[in-house]
Amino acid sequence: MLKTVKFGGSSLADPAHFKMVRDIIFSDEARKIVVVSAPGKRFSGDNKVTDLLYLCYAHIKYSVDYANILHLIKERYSDIINGLGLDFDIDKKFDGIIDKIKNGAGEDFLVSRGEAVCAEIMAKYLGYDFVDSYENVFFNYDGSVNLEKTYEAIKKSYDATSGKIVVPGFYGTMPNGNLALMSRGGSDITGALVAAALGADMYENWTDVPGILMADPGIVDNPYPIPRITYNELRELTYMGAKVLHEASVFPVRQAKIPLNIRDTNNPEDPGTLINEEFEEKELNADKFYITGIAGKKGYCIIDIKQENVARKIGALRGVLKIFEKHGATIEHILSGVDSYSLIVPMDTIKDIYSMIAEVKDFCGAGSVNVTEGISLVACVSRKMASRPGISGRIFGALGENDINIRMISQGAEELNIIIGVDDKDYAKCIRVLYNSFTRKD
Ligand code: ASP
Repeated sequence: MLKTVKFGGSSLADPAHFKMVRDIIFSDEARKIVVVSAPGKRFSGDNKVTDLLYLCYAHIKYSVDYANILHLIKERYSDIINGLGLDFDIDKKFDGIIDKIKNGAGEDFLVSRGEAVCAEIMAKYLGYDFVDSYENVFFNYDGSVNLEKTYEAIKKSYDATSGKIVVPGFYGTMPNGNLALMSRGGSDITGALVAAALGADMYENWTDVPGILMADPGIVDNPYPIPRITYNELRELTYMGAKVLHEASVFPVRQAKIPLNIRDTNNPEDPGTLINEEFEEKELNADKFYITGIAGKKGYCIIDIKQENVARKIGALRGVLKIFEKHGATIEHILSGVDSYSLIVPMDTIKDIYSMIAEVKDFCGAGSVNVTEGISLVACVSRKMASRPGISGRIFGALGENDINIRMISQGAEELNIIIGVDDKDYAKCIRVLYNSFTRKD
């Protein structure tokens, strides 16, 4: 059994968290591959080491005295080193780094030291081997990861170690040999790449939340975490605005059929959220609620179009769709009737709505088009819908009882989600009503 465990910045912010991380790792023999971020915030209002490093580079670049900011960065590390009683010369380490910057190493190099130094300290603390991402994660010129080269390098490097390693997240190498950063939060991607390369049985992503939540905590008070979710459900929720993992950090493990477990470092006994391709039927029944999660987005419009006998006329839609295409408008849903249909479009994809509508009127006749702006879409996502009748009934009932007018409703062919369109003013209420209705104990 082999597990890749990635720890985010808040799990590495101080010596106490380093100790918690070590306890977590040592409590399971399978946790042999560790990927780390740079130390994050210790309290609200604190700075992430990554941000301090960006700031430090700007000071150096514009010839502003950088001694204070460098001191702050070194202090973050010496606090950890001293708190753990480690023998690690942080001054010497940063002298070497600053030398390299003065000799032309760029911003990405300096910022990457946030994770690199953190990984070296963690390796020393655990007694694991340090494996540098610079020699193991390779990008193409367009910034995408060269998977083949990366997987091969990681496998080779791992084979040359004791079998227990710490890898810094967030950076790799460009084809010209320059070090380059990933996008912010990129250590999640490194963790997924390492897990996929080594064929781990599980990718654990340890963070400071109890898992993926059933709804936006800014809208619903203390939403339950989702115990189990499929990769498909996760995609639906992410697409509909849920802020969870970056797509690029899911792809490598999904492709390699590795389950991903989001865990809370501060509550290691919590099972967190398990993401997998599918779950056993009996596990479905073990889930507490019919709905896996609820997410939504504002900023849509509904464009109703009248076209006589559109249901029967071959190619009738095509002319209108071409106009939408020309204007860059993305059509997310089409609801059709006999003589009319409605297109649901995110407003921000339409470059010039007036000229687009004028063209549609030219094509279909004046008076044929009606636009309603200020529409929100709310998705109830669940793999359990396909096997259980009554879910849409419950949705309609709950919204009706709460005086929320449904502007449109659409259920995907795979019955993985039900999407409801409501007025923007009802958006938050709609999410709360649905959440309460599906989590109510009755
Ligand atoms: N330290 C980097 C950041 O703050 C990368 C990461 O944490 O994944 O974005």
